[in-house]
Amino acid sequence: MHRILRHTLILAIVSTTVFTGSVSASTRQTPNNQVDTIQNSDAGDIQRRQWLPQRGVCGTEEPSSQLKAAHKRLSLTEYRHAEGGRVDSNASRATADSLPRINVDTWFHVVSTSDQVNLVTNLMIASQFMYLQQAYQNASIHYNLMGVDRSINDTWARNGDSAAMKRTLRKGSYGTLNIYFQTNLEVSDPEGASSRLYAPFGHHHQHHGQNFDERDVSSSPSSPNLLGFCTLPNPDINSTSSIDDYFNDGCNILASTMPGGSIEHYNRGGTTVHEVGHWHGLLHTFQGQTCSAGADGDYISDTPQQSTPTEGCPASKDSCPDLPGMDAISNFMDYSSDDCYQSFTTEQAMRMRSMWSTMREGK
Ligand SMILES: [Zn+2]
Repeated sequence: MHRILRHTLILAIVSTTVFTGSVSASTRQTPNNQVDTIQNSDAGDIQRRQWLPQRGVCGTEEPSSQLKAAHKRLSLTEYRHAEGGRVDSNASRATADSLPRINVDTWFHVVSTSDQVNLVTNLMIASQFMYLQQAYQNASIHYNLMGVDRSINDTWARNGDSAAMKRTLRKGSYGTLNIYFQTNLEVSDPEGASSRLYAPFGHHHQHHGQNFDERDVSSSPSSPNLLGFCTLPNPDINSTSSIDDYFNDGCNILASTMPGGSIEHYNRGGTTVHEVGHWHGLLHTFQGQTCSAGADGDYISDTPQQSTPTEGCPASKDSCPDLPGMDAISNFMDYSSDDCYQSFTTEQAMRMRSMWSTMREGK
């Protein structure tokens, strides 16, 4: 009962923010271009209806060597901090109640095509924010929803010209979380600031030295789709960095993954929780995709080594049977469907906190 009341209260607060708070509406229209015409063709609609969700698509880039080094360093120091210099794994078992709250100013930017203006409802926004808040409670990371703005722009909605979109919409500093919910999210064009490229799904690709991982929700390689991606923390950013150095920072999320969205099994808001985990520096539980002993994996010791992304929501899975532990299929940083998602581990929570204090706080 207490739990229900509390949730109702949170929803009420969120609703106030969404409906009467600092909501600014911005409307931008561009002429439809050829890509939009193709997307809106009958053939495209048929293709979309035939999607058979199997895996989601996460386009977050591979971590830089600097970020990997930071993971290694933080994995050692976060224990020492917790226990006054003594290395003690139990120290990381602190509960959320005993952790100082990290407050992250957060902006939601809803970007729609002109024919999908009503796709994202205020209830979806409120529900998504509530789920994000709940998912990070154990890490004592709290999100302050500063505002929600809406844009209508067919180009931006498919993440065309993402640099212009982010330069126009992004708010706050490097420690401010900006999430773009786009109705037709695609991988940015090659000239885009994120430098992520479209690649046929179902394979792992390298381009210009970057890996692109994909969570495939499409049964057809010719109907690319992407659930989301975020920028990982950039260790080069400091308190004197210019916005020009990080305007691209933030999360791009396919709007239909929000609670109540249209993608079955991927419409509980788990994609946003997963991607924001990347924004806080976390890597996939299957990072490195190997069972070889001594591999760094995700640099988190309480997620068992895992060699393959999880598809859907199996009862259980063990991709490295000779190593301890089953795959953490309910972990937010696996590729499981939203039905499976439940939690971050204690060490993931600690890592996000130490990433916050070293990478984003005060910047
Ligand atoms: Zn991911």
